[in-house]
Amino acid sequence: MRYYDLVELYENLEKTSKRLEKTYLISEFIKSKVLNLDEHKVNRIILLLLGKVAAAWERFNTGVSASILVGAISKSLGVSKDKIEGLWKEKGDLGLITEELIKKKKQSTLFQIELSIDKVFDNIRALALFEGKGSQERKIGIISELLTSANSLEGKYIVRTIMEELRIMVKESTIRDALLWAFFSDKIGLSYDPISKKIDVSNRTLFNEYQKRIQEAYDLTNDLTKVFIKLKSRSIDALESIELKPGQPVKVMLALKVDNLDEAFLRFNRAAFEFKYDGFRLQIHKKGKEVILFTRRLENVTKQFPDVVGTIKMLDGDFIIDSEAVGYDINTKQYRPFQEISQRIARKYDIKDVAEKYPVEVNVFDVIYHNGKSLIKEPFKSRRDILNGLVPNIPGKIKPSSLLITGNKDKAKAFFDESIKQGNEGLMIKALDAEYKPGARVGFMLKLKSVMETLDLVIVGAEWGEGKRANWLSSFSVAVIDEEGNFLDVGKVGTGIKEKTTDNLNFENLTNILKPLIFSKKGKSVFIKPMVVIEVNYEEIQKSPNYNSGYALRFPRVVKLRPDKSPGEATTLDYLEFLYREQIKRRK
Ligand code: ATP
Repeated sequence: MRYYDLVELYENLEKTSKRLEKTYLISEFIKSKVLNLDEHKVNRIILLLLGKVAAAWERFNTGVSASILVGAISKSLGVSKDKIEGLWKEKGDLGLITEELIKKKKQSTLFQIELSIDKVFDNIRALALFEGKGSQERKIGIISELLTSANSLEGKYIVRTIMEELRIMVKESTIRDALLWAFFSDKIGLSYDPISKKIDVSNRTLFNEYQKRIQEAYDLTNDLTKVFIKLKSRSIDALESIELKPGQPVKVMLALKVDNLDEAFLRFNRAAFEFKYDGFRLQIHKKGKEVILFTRRLENVTKQFPDVVGTIKMLDGDFIIDSEAVGYDINTKQYRPFQEISQRIARKYDIKDVAEKYPVEVNVFDVIYHNGKSLIKEPFKSRRDILNGLVPNIPGKIKPSSLLITGNKDKAKAFFDESIKQGNEGLMIKALDAEYKPGARVGFMLKLKSVMETLDLVIVGAEWGEGKRANWLSSFSVAVIDEEGNFLDVGKVGTGIKEKTTDNLNFENLTNILKPLIFSKKGKSVFIKPMVVIEVNYEEIQKSPNYNSGYALRFPRVVKLRPDKSPGEATTLDYLEFLYREQIKRRK
């Protein structure tokens, strides 16, 4: 397919802020252009619509800085870097500037090669292949190859995609709904009037049911393309054939927060109480002798945890289990801080050494597939019984999570105290009869912590330090995410990070992680691509005109780095506002 076909859709999507209209535009595009394409191409189109060339769990970074991008525009369009930078400062959108510059240039040249979706996708992905010496020139070459062939609108979106700022505001849920519209409008009696921009649905019940089933299929596969391919048959029941199978990651079920045990007992008379371990979530798949490990963002970390793979291989059967991997000190038999083991998640070298130095104990709390059978519709209690038969108790290696089933508040309180005493974060509280809902935060599982709720913020900027910290980034601008996926800052934080430690929360390590993500500089400040999540606590949330979220944190302090979380999972602006209102209520 021509890249320009997609660009025309981008243009129409950018012109409207109305979600229904966006859904309509995408569904029409699917019907006219995408239906007959193969899975590989559909996947690329869906990613490009989301402004990406890699899935969220891939940790993909083009390594393109502002100076590389400006260099490439300059080289391909014959305009000086100074001029481009000046225009950028003035107008703020490098995509629009590229569009205008190509328009001017193309009047004098007639020669142009038609760009395909594949060419654009391949080139942008290839940017990540080059690191170190000579990589700047290679990257400039790859971008220039696209820009010299692009027409003005193509240039605009190529630059925006590389900058990861497509500005068309399309979310995964918009594409999910567009699939529903594209394949089932007739069945659910859905009509959209492009003039009034209103929809009419004659069968709301069916609409809701189909929407829910498509979402469930998406949560199960974590892959809109797979859902798309199934729906091509125009039968919603085709989704039934999407099966859980070892090797294919499933979105994890999430927990709702409660502030005390009373709140939990308002929801459940009796429940399963479990220690809430302070590690990171590990979804473990086993089929035969093959073991695959995924984090909560569904990143494959099998290579990073050879110790866990070894332990799992000793167990019988095929399964998918849900667990928390916790740092464990074999000598003292105590749990270790999350910081120490979190450095294992993205580790590329010395894997064996760190595995020996920072062992983990796997605390298994759920099983969702066992010997050919999906268990997600089974009640929690039955899943737990299967789990108990499956997972041995080998302290320091693997065990079923500590569990108490009770309807007695005093017993639950004593269990909570015991959990804290053993160095855990609190309790998880689970409905005995509830199914496992992939990707959902529906209250089948509650979390009760001993400490105040922290925020998961994305680092979007930093400042170089002074004196002996001159080679380190030291003050970090942190942001929440809004509905449309924009990152809005809530302040700067540096407290909580150490000079040098064995764990990864120190200035040197943070600088190493963030340096490849620096997009541009201004004096001592650098702007960083929003890819790294850190957990921050604070004394208070205040309204503030100084930050573009409209809020600021009083006395923010870094608690830990969260390499297991993707930026899309950061605290939302809505949630920050909710916490702010709660804080005011508490004061009254
Ligand atoms: P969230 O997962 O709610 O987005 P988060 O990652 O910051 O937020 P918490 O709010 O601390 O995590 O609590 C939920 C997490 O607790 C789970 O995702 C899981 O990783 C962890 N956990 C620890 N022990 C258990 C347990 N026994 N059962 C379920 N989850 C547990």
